[in-house]
Amino acid sequence: MNIGVLALQGAFIEHEHILRRLGHEVTQVRLPQHLDTIDRLIIPGGESTTIGKLLVAYKLLEPIRERALQEMPIWGTCAGMILLAKDIAEGRPEGQPALRLMDITARRNAFGRQLDSFEADLNVADLGDQPFHAVFIRAPLIDKVGVGVEALAALDDGRIVAARQGRFLATAFHPELTNDSRFHELFLEM
Ligand code: GLN
Repeated sequence: MNIGVLALQGAFIEHEHILRRLGHEVTQVRLPQHLDTIDRLIIPGGESTTIGKLLVAYKLLEPIRERALQEMPIWGTCAGMILLAKDIAEGRPEGQPALRLMDITARRNAFGRQLDSFEADLNVADLGDQPFHAVFIRAPLIDKVGVGVEALAALDDGRIVAARQGRFLATAFHPELTNDSRFHELFLEM
């Protein structure tokens, strides 16, 4: 498959390395025409406000939405998850662009500041018995999931950190920063 990785800002190169290791072609998506050849899209972590503005500046926001409506699977990690979320806890600042494709409410910077970044082992039934080591960097949480959204992973206290809705996948953490490619494989099978 040819997997698009949005490459405007953030941790896109790490996704690219894992996808290539899994034997796929990768297109760094920076312009609307880059969407023409891809089968799926990953929106990486970074700074969601910046990526949102760049999506507008590079005229990608509407074309990505259109591809999504034509059934292209999309996975958002961390900031990418914030851009996929229909809603943001406490509201999305006026005029802040986002894709808003997935029926979840994301809470930005749910664990505090950069220094409050942490790692945790998650039990993810869809990935088998082996826990998934997840890296959270100034991470968001999933506050609420809509009907038809399946929570895939939660912290020990029950707060949701990964979810799937049809062809959309959201993870609050950074699976591209470990050697474990099971989340990438899960996305590629969707
Ligand atoms: N805190 C960032 C945001 O709100 C997300 C951080 C990340 O992607 N690692 O966009």
